[in-house]
Amino acid sequence: MEVLKTINLTKTYITGEQKVEALKDVNISIKQGEFVAVVGPSGSGKSTLLHLLGGLDRPTSGNVIVDNTDIYRMNEHKLAIFRRRKVGFIFQFYNLIPVLTAEENITLPTMLDGKKVDKKYLEEILGILGLKDRKNHFPSQLSGGQQQRVSIGRSMIYKPSIIFADEPTGNLDSKASKEVVELLKFSVRKYNQTLVMITHDINIAQEADRIIRIDDGAIVKDEVIKQ
Ligand code: ADP
Ligand code: ADP
Repeated sequence: MEVLKTINLTKTYITGEQKVEALKDVNISIKQGEFVAVVGPSGSGKSTLLHLLGGLDRPTSGNVIVDNTDIYRMNEHKLAIFRRRKVGFIFQFYNLIPVLTAEENITLPTMLDGKKVDKKYLEEILGILGLKDRKNHFPSQLSGGQQQRVSIGRSMIYKPSIIFADEPTGNLDSKASKEVVELLKFSVRKYNQTLVMITHDINIAQEADRIIRIDDGAIVKDEVIKQ
């Protein structure tokens, strides 16, 4: 079943007199449960693509359809709710709030909505992520790998159908990188989520079901490696 699709997705950045065509007519279809690695040189448009897929920006033209909803037809308010509840984001530098504990960072999306946390589910993800004895620690008291696991927890708190990860291991040593990728793979399989991950690490890309290569704003290779 298709969970995500783009139609002629195009993004042009205009800065003063300068025009950068970051994405040109990109058409992708991603199935539910698929783990997709996005690779390509620096500046090729990978982050722009991920941001557009997750509702973090607006395209110049074209469409992004998530669970049969054309997300950029939504107004800002609805789009903000979509970003918080329907998709999860993981970034290279974790983007945690330093004055909140690990547990508070994980539950932040629900707190922002004034919603009660499902305690049982929270305990379950703290367990999966190996953070039970770290939940009252602040980010500065955690290793890089632990901080990234907190940000994975935050991305999972609403059980989104898709998780987007932008170089999630880019700041980690190889041991912590392996752990983070294993955890991500394990949790997305457990909850039947889709994972779209930008990575520079070819070993990590090879863990994916499918590798999409981008160059100069266009898909130059799209290869299914595991069914
Ligand atoms: P990648 O993630 O593959 O490194 P990006 O999507 O970040 O590539 O960038 C694609 C192109 O768009 C680059 O030429 C970059 O300089 C440009 N770009 C990205 N973000 C902006 C922005 N906010 N304003 C202007 N140009 C941008
Ligand atoms: P890793 O091998 O995952 O990078 P580190 O060597 O950074 O881990 O940290 C080892 C342990 O020390 C971790 O369990 C972490 O919780 C703890 N730790 C790291 N930095 C701090 C700190 N500033 N305050 C308290 N505990 C810390």
